[in-house]
Amino acid sequence: MNLHEYQSKNLFAQYDIPVPKGKVATSPQEAYDIAKELGGPVVVKAQVLTGGRGKAGGVKLAQTPEQARELAEQILGMSIKGLVVHKVLVDPGADIKQEIYLGITNDRAARKPLLMASAAGGMDIEQVNREAPEKIVREHIDPFLGLRDYQSRNVAGTIHLPRQQWKAFTDIARNLYRCFQANDATLCEINPLVITGSGAMVALDGKVSIDDNALFRHSDLAEMRDVQAEPSEETRAREAGLSYVKLDGDIGCLVNGAGLAMTTMDITSNIAKKLGIEGSGPANFLDVGGGAKADKVATAFRIILSEPKVKAILINIFGGITRCDEVARGILQAREEVQVNIPMVVRFAGTNAAEGRQIIDDAHIPNILSAATLLEAAEKAVKAARGVQA
Ligand code: GDP
Ligand code: MN
Repeated sequence: MNLHEYQSKNLFAQYDIPVPKGKVATSPQEAYDIAKELGGPVVVKAQVLTGGRGKAGGVKLAQTPEQARELAEQILGMSIKGLVVHKVLVDPGADIKQEIYLGITNDRAARKPLLMASAAGGMDIEQVNREAPEKIVREHIDPFLGLRDYQSRNVAGTIHLPRQQWKAFTDIARNLYRCFQANDATLCEINPLVITGSGAMVALDGKVSIDDNALFRHSDLAEMRDVQAEPSEETRAREAGLSYVKLDGDIGCLVNGAGLAMTTMDITSNIAKKLGIEGSGPANFLDVGGGAKADKVATAFRIILSEPKVKAILINIFGGITRCDEVARGILQAREEVQVNIPMVVRFAGTNAAEGRQIIDDAHIPNILSAATLLEAAEKAVKAARGVQA
């Protein structure tokens, strides 16, 4: 789960990381009121769950409350990378002398948290990593020892921070790690962390991602989830108990079990490659989990079909405790609720696979193909998506 900038900065403040004292507005008038209360120039910042807002015109400087109102009017309702802006953060304008990057994430390969810092702050860090990876300083954190101050001082020196800022930088790094650990974050990022004209260090932007699997022990954070701001399919999937990740192929996949779903995706993209069909492959990862009753399958259909690129659906079910005949009935029932106008390939294996296949065959629905193996199913789906008779 990703937090908005304003939520991330509120969280940082709880860990004694200096942040600007801004407020969130949902209307231009509110932005005016906040700007008036703050006095002086302000920045009006789009609150959407994506980076690169600055470049997209979602971060603007206002000299007066009237100007803040005008900018809020422009920014509210605008769309950044497909996400509509519903809120703006109005922060006091900062006097920026230097922008740096500071972030903590997990390095899975090293099995340790990793602190990253760069003098190339303010820019998209992924871009810095691609173009000049040597500009990012990396320091692993021993989870048993925590981040030691000498490590932060080494980093400060390596990115050539002025000596007067080392103490502030070390404090912020230590507090950022506290925040990362205490909240089960997978990312805590400040970009830019700025040095102001008066020499203070302030977190001007904030990005926090929380491990979804740990949200049960952070009810305060779970409440912050902004459903309105997430891609709607992902919200719907989560609420229905489905694991769903959108990808960019043309085969909608509906599978039970995460491992089987991964295998299905791999085989589908391999077959597409082998057949030389450009742009074909899985359109999503979707694990319906156990049970796969009609209502769950119907929701899965709706989510898969909401992507217009999808030209065929591949259903791959392994029956264990879940019985294939039950899933087959679920599929037929779901088709009554949701109109499916594209070909569908069904492959069952395991408990009651033959019965399941029989149910599908007996229904005599055009456009449903069955397959005995995953290879066959994937090939049929890839061909069906391109209108090739299998
Ligand atoms: P992002 O583009 O989504 O990462 O949004 P940021 O919050 O990082 O803002 C982008 C850029 O806007 C920053 O790198 C700064 O250069 C600039 N910016 C943000 N806040 C202020 C401010 O208070 N004053 C000034 N002068 N520039 C700001
Ligand atoms: Mn930023």
